[in-house]
Amino acid sequence: MAGEKRFRSALYEIDYKTGTIRLKNKVCPRCGRVMAFHKQPVPRWHCGYCGYVEYVRQ
Ligand SMILES: [Zn+2]
Repeated sequence: MAGEKRFRSALYEIDYKTGTIRLKNKVCPRCGRVMAFHKQPVPRWHCGYCGYVEYVRQ
C-alpha cells in the first residue's frame, strides 16, 4: 500500500517548488555527494555542494 511509495521515494526525491529531481544514485564525480537534476533553463545535473555542473545531451 503505502510501502510502494516509500520505496520509490527512496530512489529519488522531487522538490515541486523548484522542479528539482534529486536522484540518490547520481553522485558528483568531484566531491561524491548526491547531485540534483534541473530541467530549466537547460537539462543538467548540479551539485549543490561544490557547484559541479554536468549538462545533459538531448
Ligand atoms: Zn560536488
